[in-house]
Amino acid sequence: MNGIADLSAEDLRALRNRVLGEYEAFRARGLQIDMTRGKPSPEQLDLANGMLALPGNGDHFTEAGEDARNYGGLQGLPEVRALFAPMMGAPAERVVVGDNSSLALMHDCLVWSLFKGVSNEMEPWSQQSGTPAFICPVPGYDRHFAICEEYGIRMLPVPLTGHGPDMDIVEELAADPDVKGMWCVPKYSNPSGEIYSTEVIERLAAMRTGAPDFRLFWDNAYAVHHLTPQRHEIANILELCAQAGNPDRAFVFASTSKVTLAGAGLALFASSAANVKWYLARAGKRTIGPDKLNQIRHVRFLKNIEGLHEHMEAHRALIAPKFDAVIDALDKRLSGTGIAHWTKPEGGYFICVDGMEGTAKHVVDLARQAGVVLTPAGATSPYGRDPHDRTLRLAPTYPSLREVQQASEGIALCILLAALEKHDAAPLAHN
Ligand code: PMP
Repeated sequence: MNGIADLSAEDLRALRNRVLGEYEAFRARGLQIDMTRGKPSPEQLDLANGMLALPGNGDHFTEAGEDARNYGGLQGLPEVRALFAPMMGAPAERVVVGDNSSLALMHDCLVWSLFKGVSNEMEPWSQQSGTPAFICPVPGYDRHFAICEEYGIRMLPVPLTGHGPDMDIVEELAADPDVKGMWCVPKYSNPSGEIYSTEVIERLAAMRTGAPDFRLFWDNAYAVHHLTPQRHEIANILELCAQAGNPDRAFVFASTSKVTLAGAGLALFASSAANVKWYLARAGKRTIGPDKLNQIRHVRFLKNIEGLHEHMEAHRALIAPKFDAVIDALDKRLSGTGIAHWTKPEGGYFICVDGMEGTAKHVVDLARQAGVVLTPAGATSPYGRDPHDRTLRLAPTYPSLREVQQASEGIALCILLAALEKHDAAPLAHN
């Protein structure tokens, strides 16, 4: 198709009428498809069904011979920490295994930093003179932004470049002593899918921060979630921070929510020895210990890091075709129109579409009317406000492949229709 900017007024009107007709036909199909959240599908969860019978009657002893049914073991079992150490980029002694949500660990770290301070030497963030602020790469993860909003932390958006945040802007912002932290999803970022380059990671590790108690919240949620045979690796943030003389800068998070079971996985934390000590001192006030039976279950099921990678291959076989279906539909309908561009991620859970400025809300509305529910427009920006109203986050993992194919055709149609209507000051009636 030609770029719509090149079409004559007459051709544009004809195109709008045709696309509107196609949209109405799509709507008449009465579909009901949810593409809002990055949830594993039932088939993906089935891959871990073997875990439901584990650890098995009587099999509740750790490698050290301890009874996993009882209290204790705050840091997590050594065999489980060893299993995930390569994924966390830290030795097992500096890995902590929590319960089922890494978001909960991020929340705790942020709240403890606010109310207790990041170390005994530092005042709590909440008791210092300024209002604490976080650097937020955009588009980003709405639940990160929600934590900041919940605790009154100012959010400073920074654009992503395709290989990580714009570091010139990050370095400028980080020089302010009120800037206490930064959210980073360094691999297969949610939702842009981008992978932070080594140069970006080195600069994050080494940059000067105005706040001595600045922390990178390094959410490596998609560390092993590849969509191609290539298992992309990123530079090791903990090692780079240590080399740059900032050993305590990064809190690293991950989980098995999208490896085993989203509601019954293991959350993971890794950092410097001092930060792990700090973390455990706080965590010890909050719990007598994590669910070690679930830890045993994971280690029996995944066995080792290679077992984990093999398991992720089975996920890939289920979800890569869904990503392909979305990209095919967008390519077919929109390539060459000049109205949108979209990511082709090599891992993670999302496809990000930038449509024509000022149309994202309208696209979500059109899709909803046609039975396809999308993440609300704006969700990928702090405070839910996308200043350009153009970014859409598509989450194709949960619906069936057939549903993803159908929904994607409809979404592409909605993006085109919204752009054509925007192009013309007088929107067409389509109710
Ligand atoms: N971080 C990111 C970037 C995510 O996309 C998600 C899930 N959508 C999470 C964290 C949530 O992880 P968990 O299930 O471990 O709380």
